[in-house]
Amino acid sequence: MKTLDQFDIAGRSALITGAASGIGLAYTEAMAEAGAKVTLADLDAEGAEREAARLRGEGFEARAVACDVSDLAQVAAAFDGHVAAYGGCDIAFANAGWDAGNGFWSPENKRNPDGQIDMYDPERWNRSIAINLTGVFHTVREAARVMKANAHRRGGSIVCTSSNAAEVNEAIVGVPYMAAKAGVKHFMRHAAFELAAYGIRVNAIAPGPFVTNIGGGWLKKNPAARKAWDELVPVGRVAETHQIKPLALLLASDASSYMTGSHVMIDGGMQLGPVKPLD
Ligand code: NAD
Repeated sequence: MKTLDQFDIAGRSALITGAASGIGLAYTEAMAEAGAKVTLADLDAEGAEREAARLRGEGFEARAVACDVSDLAQVAAAFDGHVAAYGGCDIAFANAGWDAGNGFWSPENKRNPDGQIDMYDPERWNRSIAINLTGVFHTVREAARVMKANAHRRGGSIVCTSSNAAEVNEAIVGVPYMAAKAGVKHFMRHAAFELAAYGIRVNAIAPGPFVTNIGGGWLKKNPAARKAWDELVPVGRVAETHQIKPLALLLASDASSYMTGSHVMIDGGMQLGPVKPLD
């Protein structure tokens, strides 16, 4: 089989959670550009519809659905609607996430009392786990359900968004986010283990710092914070979302047919340790 043919997903369909913004929107564009029909599922119904309409205007097949990933019934309905519209589901991205606020250190470079474990708001903890970990469980659960039912298709590919924070501790990131992303990593591995027999592959993308709207878009709005982060990343800059598209296509397509259970870092070397420039 020719190399580039293995990336071909024309005629397949993909559901992406958290698709209205940032990394999820980049995954969605990657799928559409490669020929897949897409469903943009997001808590931000207006944003999802806006981006779906833009993609339709560019000639792609795209639909939007309002969906809170922390609510299983909403996730199930999103997948049922996708299958009804497109006749099945080949690809799913469990991507929606929430930053859960600052950790014990703030981007202004001082200690942040309410990010400390002994002060941490249990409600914020529960909400973060509900979106960042249980939301991934809900999405993988429903993706597996519809992909198993489509035995006549070619199985499926599920891609979770994990984080660099699954591997290293970050002082400015809220503690439940780290716990949730580490949970996503191991849950993804177990799902891959169990679903392999059904031809369903499960992998995770673990991004380092990308410029998105997470945390209120602070990397976009705060040039000083952006510069400080550029200096921390071994390759010398934080990432733009288009840089994640080829990896999304690799994991979604048959180009990764022998990959399952992989936690793929795309972090400019951040897991190797933060650096400061030598001068
Ligand atoms: P973003 O804020 O730009 O996009 C997140 C999207 O998820 C938004 O459209 C938001 O409306 C949606 N969302 C939030 N809660 C939801 C819910 N309960 N149900 C459905 N949709 C919901 O952020 P992003 O940076 O693109 O984040 C996407 C994923 O990437 C997240 O899982 C995040 O943890 C992960 N991530 C981001 C970075 C980064 O630096 N940006 C790094 C590592 C991992």
